Amino acid sequence: MYDLVLPLGHSPLVQRRRAILIISRVRWVAMTFAVLTPLWIAVDMVMFPWPLSGILTALRVGATVTFGSIALGFRNTERMRSAMTALALLLAIPCLFFIISVPSLANFDLTAIQQVFASGYAFLPFVMVAGLAVFPITFVEGVALTAPLILSQFGVAILGFPLEPFNYYLGALWLLALLAIVATLAGMSQLHFMTQLVNQAAHDGLTKVYTRRVGEELLDVQFNSSQRSGLPLSIAFLDLDHFKSVNDRFGHEEGDKTLKRACESLRKVLRRGDIVVRWGGEEFIIMMPNTTGVGALNAILRLRELGLGNRPDGEPQTASIGVAEMVADESADWSELVELADKRMYKAKKSGRDRVVTLNEEMITDSAPMTVAAS
Ligand code: GH3
Ligand code: MG
Ligand code: MG
Repeated sequence: MYDLVLPLGHSPLVQRRRAILIISRVRWVAMTFAVLTPLWIAVDMVMFPWPLSGILTALRVGATVTFGSIALGFRNTERMRSAMTALALLLAIPCLFFIISVPSLANFDLTAIQQVFASGYAFLPFVMVAGLAVFPITFVEGVALTAPLILSQFGVAILGFPLEPFNYYLGALWLLALLAIVATLAGMSQLHFMTQLVNQAAHDGLTKVYTRRVGEELLDVQFNSSQRSGLPLSIAFLDLDHFKSVNDRFGHEEGDKTLKRACESLRKVLRRGDIVVRWGGEEFIIMMPNTTGVGALNAILRLRELGLGNRPDGEPQTASIGVAEMVADESADWSELVELADKRMYKAKKSGRDRVVTLNEEMITDSAPMTVAAS
């Protein structure tokens, strides 16, 4: 529920998918309006006297250029900040259009038929608020995006430029507020649906940790964001020891249960922000954002202390683990970081399994976290 109200707790994956979805819809809507807005210039020219038709044409040309710039200027981003900027801009154009056009129209004495065409301008905030329903947004974003539209409606009524009688504006304001609530709820349900789809497709059915495809995407996101912020990023490559013999001796089903138990232990030990990925059959990558090599090693030692659950014969399931950290290991990209952790894991295997190889190629075979104090 919290994630539907505020965007602060969204996983990087949801943020990325949401940004992609919002920006593509913003561009699509902006392109549609860039084409439709100037078409009505001819109607304004015929219907309204000069200089009103000139004002409206200038507004339409301005809006068309801005819509066009949004459609062409915003790249298909993966960053929420630029997606929300694009969405806010998209809504700002008709908001300004409304604030300028309605008082201009009200300055002229219009005939009944001209009134009909003029009232179309008064509908702009309604169209935009309703249009918000196609975007996956949180409650707070819905309020922030609809508030300027409601305020401009209020402003136009209060400042006394009514094209329509004053009480029409108050009624309209009420309707607009209701529409804003419905559109925000629709946006929230879009977000809910999108989050569920993303999460379902992102997790491995057996172990419930992230799939490799999504893991690679998350590594990319994390690596870039850690590089930007200068914060450390640690990863651990973990391969279960002699796992084939579990299948060979007890059957595949018992093997599956052992895998599940190992992942449950992983989830128990790791922090909320840590990410577990099933990299291969019995190989996992643990991503630890904002964690130094020492911090990562402490987490791994805690994991070794708690264990990865038992094999079907009651023996503890062990693993060989390699740790690498982006800054200390000077990795140029995430695949280099993974390769290094994999290499260290392999070294742990070769040296006898059930051990950890750390950043400075040190081999650790015990499991007391306090032996590695944070420096
Ligand atoms: P090592 O200590 O060298 O890592 O030995 P190992 O037996 O773990 O390594 P190997 O790569 O030879 O075997 C991995 C095995 O993991 C083979 C495969 O049958 C098993 N495995 C992979 N995915 C699954 C799965 O989803 N379920 C089950 N039950 N077994 C799996
Ligand atoms: Mg193995
Ligand atoms: Mg393996």
